[in-house]
Order: sequence, then structure tokens, then C-alpha cells
Amino acid sequence: MPRHAALRPARPRIPSPKATLAAYGGRPVLSPERIARWPAPSLDHVSALIEAARSGRYHRVNHPIVSQLEDALGQWSGGLKVRAVGSGTAAIHIALDYLREHGPKILTPALNWPGALGPIHFAGLEPVFADVSLEDGCIDENEALAKLSPEIGVLLLSHLFGNVSEVPRLRQTARTLDIAIVDDCAQAIGAVRPQPDAGRIDSDAFTLSGNGAKHLGAGELGFLCGTNGGLIEHVDRVSLSSSARDGGRVFAPMSYGLNYRPNVLSAAVALSRLPGLDEQLAARAENAAILRIGLSGLPGLRILHRFTEARNSYLNFALLLEAGELGLPAVPATRDFIVDLLLQEGVPVWIWLRRPAWAYLPFWPEEAERPPLPNTEKLLAGLFDIVEIAPPNGSDVMRAYIAAFEKVWTALPELAPDIRKAAGDSDGRIQAGRG
Ligand SMILES: *Cc1c(COP(=O)(O)O)cnc(C)c1O
Repeated sequence: MPRHAALRPARPRIPSPKATLAAYGGRPVLSPERIARWPAPSLDHVSALIEAARSGRYHRVNHPIVSQLEDALGQWSGGLKVRAVGSGTAAIHIALDYLREHGPKILTPALNWPGALGPIHFAGLEPVFADVSLEDGCIDENEALAKLSPEIGVLLLSHLFGNVSEVPRLRQTARTLDIAIVDDCAQAIGAVRPQPDAGRIDSDAFTLSGNGAKHLGAGELGFLCGTNGGLIEHVDRVSLSSSARDGGRVFAPMSYGLNYRPNVLSAAVALSRLPGLDEQLAARAENAAILRIGLSGLPGLRILHRFTEARNSYLNFALLLEAGELGLPAVPATRDFIVDLLLQEGVPVWIWLRRPAWAYLPFWPEEAERPPLPNTEKLLAGLFDIVEIAPPNGSDVMRAYIAAFEKVWTALPELAPDIRKAAGDSDGRIQAGRG
């Protein structure tokens, strides 16, 4: 019988979906040179740097480039007062330090940029963590409302992935309880702008980052924005060790001397990007819309953006893998496996956080003992982002990302045993269950 089988004419073999995957020896969908990596440098930025270097005294906080940038960003924001500082983190620290008299505790989402939480400790405050929403990865409004208490003096809201975390009921309730509001817009520069009909988000302080990964892609830079003159004046009190802003070199006894000065060279790059910011945001939104249409049909994939919000800045395209819907173990290893397949196809995906933000800092070990926050846990196990969605990448690149996702998804049924094995190997519980 084996001999008979061998005599049968060989049919041309169609490779299985798994065999076409780059991870299993197939051709990747995208080659790396097709993708422009943010901050997508151009000659404009080089010219801005040359001009700044020639201008002299590019260590001064009152350098004309910095003042022009503060004015221009204030105008772009629709009228906020703006101070440039060394980083987004510095801006958060200054805002919290200014508002700390409101109460000893801060309510903030558990899915958070770890660096944003350090300032809570440095301002002498204690965090209370609220769960996040599976709609946008930002604070869950009802969960946050339930956690308000007389000890809470500040709400620190994080707008992740470019999403605008509007949470109007939470803001209104906070106002009636004299709770101050700080909006960390490092990932969502559009959140500082007013809506044509609804006005601006109600906040005491908006903080922005100009670091290389954010919309202003400027190296190292941050901004504190608001309408409160006292807050803006507080920048120098926390930051400058000499009163350089008005040109003098007198050491100011009132200052903490943290020297959160803006980098003038970074400010030059940010200033050169500002005229193109609207165009950049429009291109990001267009790319996000293409990804939304292309990926929304894939099972087990939840898109973490509300597309009804016009101010979203789409820093990254955030996705939650709901592995259970695919019949796969809902553990981080499943997400890691699929992310690796996508990476090998050339899609720029990455896993942002694997632990709650507080676990990356040494200040609150007791938080580890608290019961887990279910949506945060779910996101930490399944969250990943497509990172390169900014111009000059356009629809052709987005369509290639989608094609790579479809290719991987087509192979998932065939890959299920491999994925279960990987998940089992990394998770004792499942392995024991299967054994
Ligand atoms: C980047 C970021 C910050 C900090 O900005 P830096 O300029 O890097 O200090 C704060 N919060 C969030 C959500 C961020 O993504």
C-alpha cells in the first residue's frame, strides 16, 4: 500500500496558512524600509537646529525660541497660558505641587504611564487607583465616581493612545467636592483644544510632553498649560534656581531649584513642527479610520478608540486581544505569541505595559496586595499597539498592516495547538489543567 501511494502523481502543494507566515519561513508582508518611524525627521528640523545653535544662549528659559513656542502653542490650544518645561513629567510634578493643598490623596487610572505617577510621590501625595474602561483604556467613569472620598484632593486623568477622556460626570462631581483636576495629555495633544460647540474640557492644568515619541517629536520637552496665572507662575518656583526668566542671575530663595528648564534645541524642533500639527493629526485620524475598517472584522480583536470623538490625536492604534473569543487561553503569552507573528510580518506593534503602573515604581508596595482591577488586568494581558500610524505613512502602509493581520488571523486555527502550548508553558495553572 505505501508503494501505491508513492506512485500516485504528486499534486502541487499549496502551502498551509501557517507555512506562509514569516515566522515559519514565509515572506513577510512588509519590509522595514516601507515604514517611516516617528519622529520622522526632516530637513526642516535640521534647519531649526542650526538656527537655534547660531542664536547663542540656547540654555536660557527666556530664549526667544521658547517664548515663541509658548505663544504659538497657546494660540493653537485656543487661548491657554503655556509654559515650556523640561519634560511632561516635570509639568505633572509642578501641577500636582501647586494643587496639593486640596487633599492628601490623588485618584488616577491604574493603566497609566509609570513616569506620570512618580510626581504623586514627590508632591507628598498618596495615589488611589481606579479601573479603566475597555472602550478607550482611560479611567472608567463609574468606577472613579465610586472611589471619590473626602480625602481625595486631585483627579489626575490620563488620556492614553491619543484618546480624549472626557468623563463629564466625573469632572462635574469633582467640582462640587472641590477636587482639582489635572489632565495628562502627553499622548493626546488634541485634548487641550476646545470643541466648537461644547467648549474645552474642564481642568485646572493640562500637561503635555514634547518627547521624541509624542506629537511634537522634539527630543526632551514638556508643557504646562492652563488658565490660572498662579499655576503658570508656580513653574519658576518649582523649577528655576536663579531668576533667569527676567534676565537676572539672582538666586531665588523661594525656588525648589529642580531646574525643569526647557531644552531650547528641542523647543526649536517643536516650533518647526507646530505649523504642520493640524495636518499631522488629520493624517493620523485618516490612518486610524482605515485601520478601524480593516481590523474591525477580525474576531477577538477590540479597538480601544471611540471614533465619535473629533479631538482624538491617535498617537498609537491601541488594540485588545480577547483571546477567549478565539478559543485561546486568555493569558499574556497568547498576546505575546500573536504580537511576535505580526512583528515578523513587518508590522510595527509593541506591548506597552505588562504590569499596573504602580508596580514599576518603588513607592507603593502595598498596592500589590490590593484586589486586582478587572479591566486593567484584562488590558495588561491583551493590550498591544500599532505604533507607526503617523505621516508620511499613508493608506498603502495601513493596508499592508491590515493584510498582515488577516494573514496571521487566517493561520490562527492551525496555530492554536502551538499557542496553547506556549501559553501552557508559561502558565502553570493551564499546564496542570491540561496534564
Ligand atoms: C510620555 C508620557 C508622559 C511623560 O512625558 P515625558 O516628556 O517623557 O516626561 C506622561 N504621561 C504619559 C501618559 C505619557 O505618555
